[in-house]
Amino acid sequence: MSNLIQIKEILEKYNKIPKRSLGQNFLINPEIAKKTAEICMGGVFPPVDGVLEIGPGIGALTVELCRLYKKVAAVEIDRTFEPILNDIMANYSNLNIIFDDILRVDLHNLVKNEFSECEKIYVCANLPYYITTPVILKLLKSGVRFNGITVMVQKEAADRLCSKAGEANYNATATVINYYGEAKKMFNVPKLDFYPAPKILSTVVRIIPHNAPIANPKSEGLMYKIIDAAFEQRRKTLVNALVNSMNLDKEKVINIVKKITGNESIRGEELNVRMFADISDLIYDLQIINK
Ligand code: SAM
Repeated sequence: MSNLIQIKEILEKYNKIPKRSLGQNFLINPEIAKKTAEICMGGVFPPVDGVLEIGPGIGALTVELCRLYKKVAAVEIDRTFEPILNDIMANYSNLNIIFDDILRVDLHNLVKNEFSECEKIYVCANLPYYITTPVILKLLKSGVRFNGITVMVQKEAADRLCSKAGEANYNATATVINYYGEAKKMFNVPKLDFYPAPKILSTVVRIIPHNAPIANPKSEGLMYKIIDAAFEQRRKTLVNALVNSMNLDKEKVINIVKKITGNESIRGEELNVRMFADISDLIYDLQIINK
């Protein structure tokens, strides 16, 4: 289905102009869609599992997912795609399309309603670039244990998502990803594989959960707060960032940071997620004592 002439014909037939504001760059290379759908399930033989697609658009990736997975649920914000998807996807009874904003969807309900008969649940998406970070954070922080998340994102975003502690582009999202699993860049997708062509190259990133948790913070919420505080004020030392944003006693924070990292002047971007979890636990105890 997905080549340039056909896609232009479909858009014309339904009088549809791609909306930049919704990141509508459609995949026009079916080989890339197939490869992405296959990589997502990591070699597990189909069709046994469920997959959540974010932003099916006019179905380039959706078709491949429907061929490989037992159940596909796709969340699309733009209801004007409904007649197109109804036509193109008419032959696939394993697909349910939910017209909603992924950032407003209750993921626990969605998983309960859509995937009750699936052993494993994956996420696969050519993500709209304007919500790459919030979508990934929502998936990871939701507490839903997805068996793998495969996303096509702008190359620079992929570099950030896959960064490690101490690297220049290390950031809060990469830290949260590392808490959940391992992010790997799988392959690049040229600009001309999309219509309209974006300004930037894309990269497919696969995130696979750790076999066993690498950290067990007493409060995930508090650890996320500490990670956010550390990266929001990158120029400050971790101690100053935490004292400023969380209203904590400076001497106590110095002791905690020194105890975990051996360096009271360390900056947030030098810490891995285990260190964040350890610091979070000591601050958790401190807050309990203060109450
Ligand atoms: N999957 C299609 C493909 O690969 O050709 C379309 C990908 S396009 C990059 C992103 C899609 O996400 C568009 O269909 C857009 O309407 C949809 N979208 C944008 N914001 C969304 C949101 N908040 N929730 C759900 N879908 C969204």
